[in-house]
Amino acid sequence: MAKYTIRPINTGFTGKRPVPGEVRKSEPPMKDGNLEPGAFYTFHFSLYKYLEKYPVEIGAPGGVLAFLLEGDGKKILIDTGMCETERANKYHHKGGSQLPGEAIDEALINLGIQPEEIDYVLFTHLHWDHSSNCHKFTNARFFANQTEYEFALDPIPLYYKSYEASQLGIEADFKKVKMETFLEETEILPGIVAFDTPGHSPGHVAFEVDTEDGKYIIAGDACFGLYTFTPFPEETLMYDITPPGRFCDIVGYWKSARTLRERCGGDINRILLCHEGSLLESLKDRPVIGLKQE
Ligand SMILES: [Zn+2]
Repeated sequence: MAKYTIRPINTGFTGKRPVPGEVRKSEPPMKDGNLEPGAFYTFHFSLYKYLEKYPVEIGAPGGVLAFLLEGDGKKILIDTGMCETERANKYHHKGGSQLPGEAIDEALINLGIQPEEIDYVLFTHLHWDHSSNCHKFTNARFFANQTEYEFALDPIPLYYKSYEASQLGIEADFKKVKMETFLEETEILPGIVAFDTPGHSPGHVAFEVDTEDGKYIIAGDACFGLYTFTPFPEETLMYDITPPGRFCDIVGYWKSARTLRERCGGDINRILLCHEGSLLESLKDRPVIGLKQE
């Protein structure tokens, strides 16, 4: 059975860079001063009230992780991270930044891996901060969920920016590659299984990856942070997760969170999220995940 190592690679920050040691708490979006025209927040109405009462600790802002898998003689990327600062600020979030060396192809070169060495690129979804620079991997095969790919090619206007739609006068990098698609649970490669986790986007998937240290789940933005798995403190509501602020389908999101929790056997530290601050901070001590524990 193929086993992989997993190396998270930070490709920048979609928002302000964190101050070391900073802990952020969630706030209702109307209060955080970050609500710009064109941004959208789809909180369940009750959360406006309850997040004031129960701010969620979301750790330091999470950066934008892509994941390099190595094993079975192959090099595989799951997602390719965000774009350069100027484009990020113009079309996405003001205050975001990508420093020299942080673009995924540059980060790999710094690790001694040339872009041509990447064999596969697998996407959790096709938002701009998960698929930028994918065309740099000229020898790779590319895989995305079919529902996600079709929506990404023809999104509703609310998502033009997220998918860098041609209506904005730009071309998303995922349109520059030949995409192969799949539907439903699929073993993409031996030891790497894609399964549906919709809700953040219409065809979002997570990847269950076999390692010497057991299975890990690379879950993209299926949840924004591990705080999702904390039952919401208001007992009368009986929420078994803390709901998110941003989703296209809250029922899907909720069920996907439950699916993730079940598939990792309740060990939520096996769920690797693209924007999770604690994962980014742990890289200093553990740059490679999936090695056999001594
Ligand atoms: Zn996303």
